[in-house]
Amino acid sequence: MMVANIHAWLESRRLGKEQSREEIGGFVRGVVSGEVSRQQAADWLALVMAGGMSAKETQYLTVAMMESGSKMEWDSALGPFWDKHSTGGVGDKVSLVLAPLWACLGIRVPMISGRGLGITGGTLDKLESIKGFSTALDEKQRIHCIREVGCFIQGQTLDIAPADSILYALRNETGTIASVPLITASILSKKLVEGIDRLVLDVKFGSGAFMKTKPEASELAQSLESVGQLAGVETIVHLTDMSQPLGMAVGNALEVEEAIQCLHGDGPSDLEDLVVELSHFGESARRALRDDSALQKWQAMVTAQGGNPDAPLRGEGCATAVIEATHSGVVTQCDAEGLGRAAFTLGAGRATAEDEVHFGVGLKVHAKEGSQVEVGDPLVTLLHVEKGLASAREMIHASIQVN
Ligand code: URA
Repeated sequence: MMVANIHAWLESRRLGKEQSREEIGGFVRGVVSGEVSRQQAADWLALVMAGGMSAKETQYLTVAMMESGSKMEWDSALGPFWDKHSTGGVGDKVSLVLAPLWACLGIRVPMISGRGLGITGGTLDKLESIKGFSTALDEKQRIHCIREVGCFIQGQTLDIAPADSILYALRNETGTIASVPLITASILSKKLVEGIDRLVLDVKFGSGAFMKTKPEASELAQSLESVGQLAGVETIVHLTDMSQPLGMAVGNALEVEEAIQCLHGDGPSDLEDLVVELSHFGESARRALRDDSALQKWQAMVTAQGGNPDAPLRGEGCATAVIEATHSGVVTQCDAEGLGRAAFTLGAGRATAEDEVHFGVGLKVHAKEGSQVEVGDPLVTLLHVEKGLASAREMIHASIQVN
């Protein structure tokens, strides 16, 4: 690669010119090969952060990042292939329910998920509370799961969009995370490698979400939708509220238990309603939750991925503490961010990708916004191992308002 090219690409970004597929593709390949230096890449990211990118440029970036690794290929006769991605939140266990639900409705679901970070829970951390469950599948195992079960949920591998791993780490270091085109390309590059026909995106807004306000979430949603469509995948976006936790459970094993309740047709109504909305199957989805066919698919998926669906979940033996209402009234606030921080403080989450999570700790929320409570009623049960208990109690008191 010519050094002059790299200077020209930086110059055209500086001048605000629309960059071509070749320029953006060359930049991404140079980042991966090391020919584009870290400083040059950081400069380019800063220019994008300040000046934005057109939808076309974001599409070129997405495709170049996707093509930096390998792509899954499926026998199209098995299709359709769908997946869902959520921008993350507190108590969001929808993927655990939706993948087997779709599979039992005839959709193939090759789902790549992530780990938790900060107050945002991660599907892989939740699944690993199942003894033996493997989130690292090879190609043969993936094909087996898709053919025999219809779905799998696994983690990112080294050959999935490696350009994103490099650029994401650099964005983290250089304060260039909060850019809509960069977030769009980062999310889509990892999803489009799944070889899917349809991507359902759940873009969250509210205190427990990455995007705190609806207008911010809406801007990201529009970008994800237009770039996903330009990249040739039917992309459907939902904007959903994350101002209070989804469902009643926050914490890895606790969320798996609640997902199983939902698969059995007796999960919390907000969780079931969101699963049904995102499924795009309406009443057929609700029926599959009620008649246990989704639950049987979950058991088949867990077994195919090496787990024992009947074994107790990891993280047993936590102590419990209950926070009660100090006066009667209606719950007017059940703040997702504060409760997410409390669960994180107990050990449910990780501050950096290298940290370990505790599978058993977390919160069971008993009263969400609009609930009537009397003095002494339980508001939240904490499952804990002493770590962070006093701070978590304070956070919960500040998060739940009864008026
Ligand atoms: N999640 C991602 O995968 N990438 C981003 O840039 C932000 C959130």
